[in-house]
Amino acid sequence: MRPISAMLPEELAGALPGAPAYRGRQIFDWIHRRLVFDFAEMSNLPDSLRRDLAERFMPVSLEEQDRIRDADGTVKFRFRLGDGNTVESVVLQDRRGRRSACLSTQVGCAMGCLFCRTGYLGLRRDLNAHEIADQFLLLRSFVRRQGLRSEGNPPRSGDLSGVVFMGMGEPLANLDNLLQAIEVLDCGGFSQRRMTVSTCGLVEGIRSLSSRKSMVRLAISLISADSEVRNRLMPVNRSNPLSELRRALLDYQAALGKRITLEIVLMAGINDRPEDVEALVSFVRGPDARQPLKVLVNLIPWNPLPEFPYKRPEAGRVEWFRQRIEQARIPVTTRVSRGSAVCGACGQLGQITPSG
Ligand code: SAH
Ligand code: SF4
Repeated sequence: MRPISAMLPEELAGALPGAPAYRGRQIFDWIHRRLVFDFAEMSNLPDSLRRDLAERFMPVSLEEQDRIRDADGTVKFRFRLGDGNTVESVVLQDRRGRRSACLSTQVGCAMGCLFCRTGYLGLRRDLNAHEIADQFLLLRSFVRRQGLRSEGNPPRSGDLSGVVFMGMGEPLANLDNLLQAIEVLDCGGFSQRRMTVSTCGLVEGIRSLSSRKSMVRLAISLISADSEVRNRLMPVNRSNPLSELRRALLDYQAALGKRITLEIVLMAGINDRPEDVEALVSFVRGPDARQPLKVLVNLIPWNPLPEFPYKRPEAGRVEWFRQRIEQARIPVTTRVSRGSAVCGACGQLGQITPSG
């Protein structure tokens, strides 16, 4: 059976020879706007077409395997893919009750960042566009259904406010499938402007986003602006060095004018020192303070993982780091870690069941 969640209305119409072209849009709207995943319920389609669709197509191909809820409102899902691999996706809730979906783009990750659990697993495979779109559809459907029953303080919103591609995998290493999924979700009424792609800094991928004038937001897992520290923690820095990354970010801003988020996962004694602040400030300002980057720095105290040799800095140290950046007049926030009780926090995704 053919998965269809990443097909645009005209592609759906093309897959239905003999049916009028507007059927493509109708099926698309049922799936993407009304979140109806059963052809039998698509009441404006003729019975014969509904039966035919049910025999040939799958609106959603992922199967929910597990769901864990944290007291702070985070819900982590584990989905089974057609080949037996699994991926994880998370619904995060902020203090105001707004909820966002954190989606995976690969099974595992090839980038091998030393502080990240997904990196430790290595890459198993890329997700297809429909597997990325399916995570969104299932999480959005969950949020909408839950929103209807929402009570409590703060009240939950009845829909997703945003999507972040910050789950398992490196989104820009799976660019074509990522972009196709984004286009389809956008066409279904969820604007690209509400989506954030987080990357470890793949220069070619960033340049692709600039040249396509993509309206998604961009976040860079910078971690450190000191080349030696970054080389040690992130092998990807050897082939995508900071100087080239910075040039790509400048060009991205020249093309799109958008502010970029720089994510700094803080580890005690590793990248929370005075020289790390200085390196970060000069990375943002640029040589001779000409051509500064327009950024928001997001500090993320490292989420502890068993058997990893790092430590989360004390809260006072994180606050010291934040203030030093603020003094340099660079916008900065500290991310409150949510969902760590269910291992749904950043860098803690990554349980994979063996396939076959
Ligand atoms: N591959 C992409 C997106 C997935 S990682 C990227 O690297 O940006 C999502 C975020 O989790 C990144 O900002 C990453 O730096 C962060 N992260 C990884 N391990 C972490 C940990 N143990 N604690 C806190 N954040 C972590
Ligand atoms: Fe991959 Fe991102 Fe983890 Fe690095 S931080 S290993 S790029 S998922």
